[in-house]
Amino acid sequence: MTNVATTKNQFAMQDPLEQYPQPEFDKQPQSEPGLAQEMSPKPDHGEESYQGFGRLAGRKALITGADSGIGRATAIAFAREGADIVLNYLESEEKDAQEVVELIEAAGQKAVTLPGDISEESFCKTLVEQGHKALGGLDILVNVAGKQQAVEDIEDLTTEQFDQTFKTNVYALFWICKAAVPLLPPGATIINTSSIQAYQPSPNLLDYASTKSTIVAFTKSLAKQVAAKGIRANVVAPGPVWTPLQISGGQPTEKIPNLGAKLPLKRPGQPAELAPIYVLLASQESSYVTGEVYGVTGGNPLP
Ligand code: NAD
Ligand code: MG
Repeated sequence: MTNVATTKNQFAMQDPLEQYPQPEFDKQPQSEPGLAQEMSPKPDHGEESYQGFGRLAGRKALITGADSGIGRATAIAFAREGADIVLNYLESEEKDAQEVVELIEAAGQKAVTLPGDISEESFCKTLVEQGHKALGGLDILVNVAGKQQAVEDIEDLTTEQFDQTFKTNVYALFWICKAAVPLLPPGATIINTSSIQAYQPSPNLLDYASTKSTIVAFTKSLAKQVAAKGIRANVVAPGPVWTPLQISGGQPTEKIPNLGAKLPLKRPGQPAELAPIYVLLASQESSYVTGEVYGVTGGNPLP
C-alpha cells in the first residue's frame, strides 16, 4: 500500500474504486483530535491534484476544522479558486494547520490563523469578528469542525461527552452563524457539515448522530430565514472519509482496518473528494440551491 493516498489528476476519468487506497488499513490509534501528518496512508486533501478555475475569485471565507481532513481539502480548493481564508482549529493541531497555511500562500492567497475552542460561546463570537476584520469582509462561512467519539453502550456515554459533542457540533454552529449572519452580504453562502449518520445512525454514535441530524434541520430552517437577505445555506453529508476524526476514537480501533469496505465503492472517501462539493455550494454556480443536503457517501445514498 502506498503511504500517501494521492492521485495526480483527480479530474481525469478513472475507476473510482481504484482511485484511492482500499482497505485494509493499519489501526494507527491517535488521541483526539489527532493529526493528519501522522496518518498512514496520509489522507489526500488535493495538495497535488486540485486545480482552481477562479470560481471563488475575491471571496473571503472562514473555515472551521481547516487544519485537517475535509476542512483542509476545502481550504486548499478555496484558495486555488481565488479565496482568502481564515482557518480555525484547536491549538494542538498547529502543525497540521501550518501545512495548510503554506499551501494557501503558495496559491497566492491570504491565510489567517485563528486557533481556539469553538465549544466556547465567547470564542465563536471573537472568531467571526476577528476573521471578518482580518479579511476585510466575510462572504463564505464553512462549518466543518466536529467531534465524534464512539461509545457502545448508553450506560457508558457520559453527560460530559454528550454535552461536549453538542457544544462542538451544534451550539458552535448556532453561535458562529449568529455572529456571522449580520456581517454577510447578499450572495454570501453558508455550508454546514452533517453526515450519513443523520440518516443511518450507528448504535455506537448516539450523541454524534443526534448532532448531525440537528445540523440538517438547523440549516434547512436557517436557509429559509436568510433567503430574503440573499444568503444561501446548504449541508454536505459525507459517508466515511479517511481523516484523523476516524482514527482518534471516531470509530472503535478494530473497525479502522476495514473502513468503507462494505460500501458499493469499497473504500473510504478521501477529503479531496469532498472539496469540489464545498466549492460548488460556496460559488455562484449554485445560485438556485439553498436548504439542500448534498450526500458524498461512496454509494450509500441519502434518503
Ligand atoms: P478532522 O479530524 O480532520 O476534522 C475535525 C476538526 O474539528 C479537527 O481538525 C478540529 O480542528 C476540529 N475541532 C474539533 N473540536 C473542536 C473544538 N472544540 N474547537 C475547534 N475545533 C474543533 O476530521 P473530518 O473527518 O475532516 O471532520 C470534519 C467534519 O466532517 C466533521 O464535522 C465530521 O463530523 C464530518 N464528517 C466526517 C466523516 C468522516 O468519516 N471522516 C463523515 C461524515 C461527516
Ligand atoms: Mg485536525
